[in-house]
Amino acid sequence: MIFAPLSPTGDDIDKLCAFNKVTVSATLLPFFNVVIINKEHSMSDTHLHYHYAWQATQWQRLLQQQSDGKLPHAIMLTGPSGIGKLQFAQAKAQQLLCLTPISGASCGRCKGCELSAAGTHPDLFVLRPEDGSRVIKIDQVRRLTDFVAKTSQQGGMKLALIEPVESLNINAANALLKSLEEPSAGTLLLLVSHVPSQVMATIRSRCQQVDFALPNRAAALEWLTPLSAGLADPEYLLTCAGGAPVAARALMEGDQLDARQQLAHALVEIAKQQMSPLDVAAKLSKREPLEVLASMMQWLQMAIRQSALTMDNLEPVVLVLADVPQVIVFRFWDKLVSLKRQLLSMANPNKQLLLEELLLDWQALTRQGVANGQARQQLMNGLV
Ligand SMILES: [Zn+2]
Repeated sequence: MIFAPLSPTGDDIDKLCAFNKVTVSATLLPFFNVVIINKEHSMSDTHLHYHYAWQATQWQRLLQQQSDGKLPHAIMLTGPSGIGKLQFAQAKAQQLLCLTPISGASCGRCKGCELSAAGTHPDLFVLRPEDGSRVIKIDQVRRLTDFVAKTSQQGGMKLALIEPVESLNINAANALLKSLEEPSAGTLLLLVSHVPSQVMATIRSRCQQVDFALPNRAAALEWLTPLSAGLADPEYLLTCAGGAPVAARALMEGDQLDARQQLAHALVEIAKQQMSPLDVAAKLSKREPLEVLASMMQWLQMAIRQSALTMDNLEPVVLVLADVPQVIVFRFWDKLVSLKRQLLSMANPNKQLLLEELLLDWQALTRQGVANGQARQQLMNGLV
């Protein structure tokens, strides 16, 4: 057992975890100032119900609405992925289902908290893609509609958590709309969206939107540094995750970081014409095209952002884009965006073909940069 602050925030818990290289089992005993640490839990444990330090403003705003009795029937949490919106929604759900909340936070020890933490609370319904699918289907929404129509089993509120809401297919979205149009008393729908522009406007307009921005770099590093101690460079992790701290922490799990570095290396080799795009595509054939796409989009974003600033500390894979005209980089960006949309809507994409096309485009893009770079160099050398 370890002594902890009376109302630990996610920050306090993460620091404790980092100190002990373990994660908290969500069994908190705040009355005794003690947190029980369960060494068997892994870093992927998703049942830790607290909000992060950088979400304090949004948390307080909702608490104020709650104490004023003005909590809406549907809230959509929006912002970039990897910053902890789902965690926030889980924390809010647990707080609302807690039988004895303390200072606006769940107590962590009542029956309600135990059930929420175990993922078995009968008044909490979670709607997310199932069975390896990328979409939420209409049958799942029908189960949600049944849940909303029933009375609460524990006598308190009922909570439905939908994440991410943009993964509802069109029929499912229309079915959900009915629940939003005819809200049931005592039920709160918490919707999480990473890309609200992809959510039906009629759904968006029926929810109170709570926006989350990327936390500033200093705050993100303050949280990430103790968690990555001895494992990885937090600055590098955060850069790899595009500044999203929760995504940065996830990079430490499995072989994600290695896979990203291998891809970066291969892309640089293609740019230098030392590897063929087709050979790289064959090597990457087991990789998920969406992951490859996500990494490429991040590097492109960095190249776009950094071109106006400084060239220091950039990864080689970003530097190879330095001489590519911005208009071409933007055109490639648009292509990646539409490819991502296609991939999300395809049931069984031909991964090999997609990767080959993507890497051939990368080769064409970087050749443009090399040609420009050579022309610039010749100009500087006074040869032309
Ligand atoms: Zn409780």
